[in-house]
Order: sequence, then C-alpha cells, then structure tokens
Amino acid sequence: MDENQIASLVQKVLEQMGNQSPAASSAGNTQIPKTARVAVLTGLKKFEVKEDPIPALGDDDILVKVEGCGVCGTDVHEWRNDPFGLIPVALGHEGTGEIVAMGKNVKVDSAGKPLKIGDRVVTCMIFKDNPDITMFDLNKQNVGGADVYGLLPDDDVHLNGWFSDYIFIRGGSTVFNVSDLDLDSRMLIEPCAVLVHAVERAKTTGILRFNSRVVVQGCGPIGLICIAVLRTMGIENITAVDGNEQRLEFAKRMGATESVNFMNYKGIEALAGAVEKAFGGHLADFAFQCTGSPAAHSNIYKFIRNGGGLCELGFFINGGDATINPHFDMCSKEITLVGSWVYTLRDYATTFDFLKRAIAIGLPIKELITHRFSLDEMNEAMETNVAQKGLKIVYVSKK
Ligand SMILES: [Zn+2]
Repeated sequence: MDENQIASLVQKVLEQMGNQSPAASSAGNTQIPKTARVAVLTGLKKFEVKEDPIPALGDDDILVKVEGCGVCGTDVHEWRNDPFGLIPVALGHEGTGEIVAMGKNVKVDSAGKPLKIGDRVVTCMIFKDNPDITMFDLNKQNVGGADVYGLLPDDDVHLNGWFSDYIFIRGGSTVFNVSDLDLDSRMLIEPCAVLVHAVERAKTTGILRFNSRVVVQGCGPIGLICIAVLRTMGIENITAVDGNEQRLEFAKRMGATESVNFMNYKGIEALAGAVEKAFGGHLADFAFQCTGSPAAHSNIYKFIRNGGGLCELGFFINGGDATINPHFDMCSKEITLVGSWVYTLRDYATTFDFLKRAIAIGLPIKELITHRFSLDEMNEAMETNVAQKGLKIVYVSKK
C-alpha cells in the first residue's frame, strides 16, 4: 500500500466518521428533512402552513425539532389585528424542542450550561449581553430582529417562529438548555417569567413580606401563575378576585387561601368589604392587578390598606384609560405603585427553578394547559383563545 492509497483510505474512514458523527448518532433516528412546515400568518385571522427549506447549518447555528409552543396574547393580537404591521410573519415565541443538529462551535447555552444533540431548549426574546435588560429597554433602543423568534418577520431564514415543526436558531441567539423540565413546564416558562418579574418588581417596594396579606385580581393564566409564584416564595395569605367561579376554584388549588367572586357584589364598596372580610377584617398589604380591564385598575386601590403597595401588570397592550381619584386612592393612602412589563433575562433563568419548586410543592401549574392544537389547527387555536375557552392554549407537534 503506497502513501496515496493510505491517504485515500484515511480519507474514506474520516468521511464515514463524518457521516456518523457523534452528534448524528446521539440524535437517535431523527432524520433531518430538507424542508420544514411553518404556520405563517399570511393575512388577518389567517394562518397558512407553508413548506420552507431548512437552510445549511452554520458553525454557530442550532436546528431544533419543535415539540410545542404556547399561544400568547401577543400572537392572538397579531392574528386578529396585525397592530405591529408584521404580516407575513412566523409567530410563536413560547416554544421548546429538541436539538437535532448544531454547528461545531456550539458548546454551551446562554447560561454556560453544556449543549448537546438531544437536549431540550427554549429561546428568550431578551438578549444575553445584559442580563438585566428588559423588553422596555430593547424597545427604547429599537433593537430587534436577529435574536427574536416568533415575533418579527425575517426575510432570510423563514424558520424563525415556534409554530412550526423545525426552528433554525442562529448563532448568538439567547437559548437555554432546559432538558430537566418536562414538555408542559417548558411551554409555560415564558408566561411564568412575566410573573417572576412582576413579583421582583413588587419586592422593590419593601412592602411584600412573608406574612403579607396579598390580593390578586384576575384569575386568568397570569393571575393564577401570580398566585403560584407568591406561594413558592412563602406568601401564605392570598385572596383571589375574579368573576368566574371555576377560575376561583383553580386559584385556591394554586395556593389562594380565600376567593371573592365580584359577580356577587354590587358596587365597589361592597366588593372591597368582601375582600376585607376575606382577610379577617383587614385590607390587603399588597395587590397584584392581573386583568386588562381599566375598571379593574380603578377598583383595586379600594382593596389596599393605607401605606400598602400595588403592582399593575395587566396591561401588556394599551387597554384604554383608567380613572382614579389621586387624593383618595393614592396620596392620602400613601400607596407605593410599581408597573411591570415582560421580564429580564435573569428572571427567565430564575423561572426554571420556580417551575421545579412549584411542582415540588404540589401546585397544579401544568393544569394551566387546557387545549392542545396541531400545526394545521392554528386558526382554531386562536379562536379558542379569543372565545376565552380554557386557560393556556398550546401548539404541540404530537397530539
Ligand atoms: Zn408570550
């Protein structure tokens, strides 16, 4: 055997090894197709499933086989009205899935945790450069695009929304290895991060303590998760306020000690009286306003004691003006008010631990997911959300 023959033999062996790289073999039988299916919002109230080519992977890129993605209020707003003028766009930002291929430079996630084929990951809309930066800062700086999945249109790579069967995560994106969480928990990370952030905002007032009496107004997914976050941090005395008895029942299972159905009371004085009674004759030390209703914002001051605090987090989008009496509601009571919107990267990472803790203490957090739809049913998924059926609606690749 001469040198050339040896060289070609070595070449052949290397090629074979290349074909069965450790990456590919540890991916099990996952065959990577040439194209992926994506639910693209092509018009108002119109998701269409398109077939897009899966681009060649760069050294820093990751290809993820999507397992599921939560439907967010933002997706529904976009589907109904396109308020941000994004159409056509691939939506879905609360997604998670399995790494099926990755470039040779990809070694760790945004928190420094090792990444390998088969790991389960999520993306985050907040850039990793500054863990304390919030969506508010990003908007101010008008940063966006490359790193954001399921929210912004992208002309080059269309596989950038989680309502799809594959998502192409470009190098430099914020990505976390969350293989130690099950699928349902992973789909709840993003909404839970909103509440971890809100409670962190509330803590800055110095009013929220172990023995605080806390009222949570609104028992949709946000209010219910709020109660769960409060429970995991040791708040024991929580009154939930909502107009739906089923949701109030769920609030109690999630950790609320008392519930008040506002449908049973006529006028804000009677309702405030009911909240006071629920706390054994005391008003709340702290309140979380989790509805998108301006009237609910106006009312909530009446539930709070003098010197108490309020976290307003119900208005992700403009819901109109609310009327308050600044003298009676704020000044004379010396209320400390914080607003909360989205989350920071630090809150996102904290949320992984919150979910584990919530499950460990037996909170039925995963029961928030009430409806599952396939990729072909995304319009139906949105309609279900609009009709306010159930709680958390998700897309899953395998129903
Ligand atoms: Zn969301």
